[in-house]
Amino acid sequence: MRQTSLSVDLETAAACRSYIMRVLVITGAGVSAESGIPTFRGEDGYWRNFSAAKLATPEAFERDPKLVWEWYSERRQRISNARPNAGHEAIAKLARQADEFLLVTQNVDDLHFRAGLANEAMVQIHGNIFVTRCCRCDFRRDYNHEHEDVLPRCPGCAALMRPGVVWFGERLPWSELQRVENYLDRGACDLVVVAGTTATFGYIINWALRASRCGGELIEVNPEETPISQFATQLAREPAAIALPRIVDATVSYSH
Ligand SMILES: [Zn+2]
Repeated sequence: MRQTSLSVDLETAAACRSYIMRVLVITGAGVSAESGIPTFRGEDGYWRNFSAAKLATPEAFERDPKLVWEWYSERRQRISNARPNAGHEAIAKLARQADEFLLVTQNVDDLHFRAGLANEAMVQIHGNIFVTRCCRCDFRRDYNHEHEDVLPRCPGCAALMRPGVVWFGERLPWSELQRVENYLDRGACDLVVVAGTTATFGYIINWALRASRCGGELIEVNPEETPISQFATQLAREPAAIALPRIVDATVSYSH
């Protein structure tokens, strides 16, 4: 009996060694909300009685760039004062344990990065609030270079600089899209986790389904039902900061 069990253990160990864990994680505003970053929904969706969803548009910037800059300045400040939560930390831990890993986040803050996730392991599909870019040409730079007493202008073409984020109605950045496509093309994933996003954008559902296409686990973490729920192999109806550490610990102990 003892021998049989030993050989089974060795087999399992051998299988584990050759096993490649390929992971895709997709996160949205719900993950940052638990660090105190306001979402664009409900009561959070207003600033000085302006609707956030309407401020985050090219039209609002054209109409009143100063107002939009002020709003983003406050958001940057709020993010700088916030700290990554247990959900961010669990994702960084999962990245360290996985053989291949990519995070696609809709969040424009730096909380995943500050939790220890390398920039190479993540795609900020809606841009980065700490980057600014020219409205007209390709010039971009770190936000720290801007002096906000005046509306910042491009040193190259003198057009207004704007936050380096994707506004409503704008296209996703091509280079970042390519990084997601390349990762999905290289192979299916064993584990896909979709956390804190209402998954209202078709591309989020598309990526999650493509990544889990060969029978991979598709785990949704969200207190509410979303369009992804019907496809999930596991549902965690809890906030990300509670569910993610548990899910990651279970995955890590299973694969090692
Ligand atoms: Zn320019």
